[in-house]
Amino acid sequence: MATQVNGYHANNTLVSSDRLHVIDQLREKNIGKYLPLPQLVAVGDQSSGKSSLLESLTGIPFPRGQELCTRYATQITHRREEHVCINITIIPRPNAPEAVKDHLKLYGRALQSTAELRADFPAILDEVNVHMGIRTSKNPGGDKTFAEDVLKIEKCGPDEDYLTVIDVPGIFRLTAEGVTTNQDKALVISMVKEYIRDERTIILAVLPANVDVFTQEILALAEEYDKKGERTLGVLTKPDLLQELSAKVSVCKLVEGKRKPLNLGYYVVRNRGGDDDDNDDAGSDLTGPDREAMFNEVPWRDLPKERLGVAALKSRLQDLLDHITDRAFPQLRLETRQMLADSQKDYSALGEPRQKEREQQKYLVAMAGKFQALVRAALAADYSAHKALEDDKLRIITQVVNLTEDFNKDFLQNSHAYSFITSKVEEEHVAKVEWIPDPVFSIDLEDLEAELEMFPELNNITTLDVCTNDDFPDCNIMDWIESMYRRSRGVELGAFGPGLLSAAFREQSVKWGPLTRRYLSEIILVIHRFILRALDVVCTDTKVREELASTIMDRLLARYEDGMRQADFLVAVERDKRPYTLNHYFNSNLQGARGLRIAKALKSHSRLLYGEGAKYVELQKVQEAVTNKSNTQHTKEDIHDILQAYYKVASKRFVDNVYHQAVDHCLLSGPMSPLALFSEQWVLELEDKKLRAIAAESRLTSERRVILERKIKDLEEAIEILQ
Ligand code: GDP
Ligand code: MG
Repeated sequence: MATQVNGYHANNTLVSSDRLHVIDQLREKNIGKYLPLPQLVAVGDQSSGKSSLLESLTGIPFPRGQELCTRYATQITHRREEHVCINITIIPRPNAPEAVKDHLKLYGRALQSTAELRADFPAILDEVNVHMGIRTSKNPGGDKTFAEDVLKIEKCGPDEDYLTVIDVPGIFRLTAEGVTTNQDKALVISMVKEYIRDERTIILAVLPANVDVFTQEILALAEEYDKKGERTLGVLTKPDLLQELSAKVSVCKLVEGKRKPLNLGYYVVRNRGGDDDDNDDAGSDLTGPDREAMFNEVPWRDLPKERLGVAALKSRLQDLLDHITDRAFPQLRLETRQMLADSQKDYSALGEPRQKEREQQKYLVAMAGKFQALVRAALAADYSAHKALEDDKLRIITQVVNLTEDFNKDFLQNSHAYSFITSKVEEEHVAKVEWIPDPVFSIDLEDLEAELEMFPELNNITTLDVCTNDDFPDCNIMDWIESMYRRSRGVELGAFGPGLLSAAFREQSVKWGPLTRRYLSEIILVIHRFILRALDVVCTDTKVREELASTIMDRLLARYEDGMRQADFLVAVERDKRPYTLNHYFNSNLQGARGLRIAKALKSHSRLLYGEGAKYVELQKVQEAVTNKSNTQHTKEDIHDILQAYYKVASKRFVDNVYHQAVDHCLLSGPMSPLALFSEQWVLELEDKKLRAIAAESRLTSERRVILERKIKDLEEAIEILQ
């Protein structure tokens, strides 16, 4: 592979070694477009001689001099091609608006030779200034002084090496009124930093010999990014402008490392001055031997030869490029692989091309299949089935179970309007099963409200209202029963009318509706969130996803409403019908309550018999205890006990029914559940027009597919080369 001769001397180029040859090949494969490859960048103060230096190094006439001071970065690349040509284009800044990008990309010039470029350069720069909107005397309408767009000059020819050299605007200290602002200054500094930040950039810190190095902030800046000084070279320009010997000696001291030493040292280069003939072709006279004759004079001639002149600098740069490239290789390999993997992922996310109806249907059916698989796994709590299920918000069945447990607990404790009188034993039991929420899954009210705000489409279906005990008069249940009894009793003796129990139960269960609606709302929110997230997972194309979501939305909402309606129905059935149950627990509860009541009444009459643990009551006392109560008292207690026994049975039945019918059947696993909506069947039944609207590929996607195909091919070849 090493077909080239080491050093620049043989063929006047900067590049030679194997590794650099590989880089050449990578550039040839366009990899520089995707990954940063080693490059040279000249940085320094305005007019320090950056452009002149790069011209000396590459033979390309850079715009030089005060008027033409660089207003944007210029990137010179070299490419090996059969025929000689020079292409000039503009690379838009990454954050430019699309329209501006399009406009900038329109610019292009093709030239046949360096001589032609030299001749046309001023005119080309005028055009570029207009294109980028740079304000100059010839383009007073421009709206900026500096641009972040890049002027790209690509030199092609059979002898070119793929070296990239970048000329950035010079750093300036003083702002000139009407020309440059502090903002411009900051912009230039940030552009410079952007270029020198990269590990693979060799920094040519250009320092005019006739200015004190200690005033040059570029050295400090370079040090900031190249801490070990492994890729910063000091280049002293304009040595010919030094008159006094003492000034020259001072510069020599820099080179000798006796002042402000730099790790990689300083080089002295004499470029073409402003007064030198513009037509001496730098291409054929790169080293400018006439100009460099001065290095044979005192004090320069005492400096090491390898520190003087363009040729020496080039030779050193070559080694350095080699070194940097070597170091960059493992990283380059890694990044190329990573980029290839990313591109392949992006590419497969685009799916098969979808121009025809069949292709569109296939695409959507596959997506629905994935969605249903995700639903199945999530409902079965089979969370290892899909990586996406690591997201707690997709663990739907766990959330539902937790919410349901919460609901059950809340319901058994707080759903009644008036607290029943319970025996001590039972109260203790209730206190013991105190619900401790799981910290990961518990959903508190504020979170829910915030989440619901993200889904305004649920506004008309869900509600987070809760009724608290404050909504009821703080009233003793016995007083309440008495007042109900007094309002409704007839002439029956020791009994109560048939309507009383219904009315009492209705009042006692007044919170069931709101509690249930709230529970259902939470469930619906969890399901809705799941569906939208699952769509994100199965469909990466934003346009398709949005179209799909908006197409299913109406039916989705209707299904949520069905669930809610079923819950309302269950509430109505419980509350509006006459209380009745076949559940034998009702009877045992009731008998239990009555028994307890008698036991309580007898308690004060009981006494412990000597030697035995149990208490005894005289038969006579039993009669007294039971007959001592008034009729009303008796009836009230009876109503209380029946109501309590029934309430217990009814509320358990109700909670079960709500879960089974409204939640599980209507909202989760039934055939008409919202989770079942986006299915293969649904896709197959879509009208053609709808199908097209959702699944047809946008032009953007087709274009993206072509670009990615090309990129993947380039990167695959790059990996071959990098092996
Ligand atoms: P930049 O702003 O850093 O790109 O500086 P330029 O390359 O445009 O140079 C500014 C001026 O200094 C131009 O007129 C150059 O011709 C001149 N110049 C650059 N290098 C040398 C040099 O080594 N000797 C002399 N005499 N003039 C130079
Ligand atoms: Mg310049």
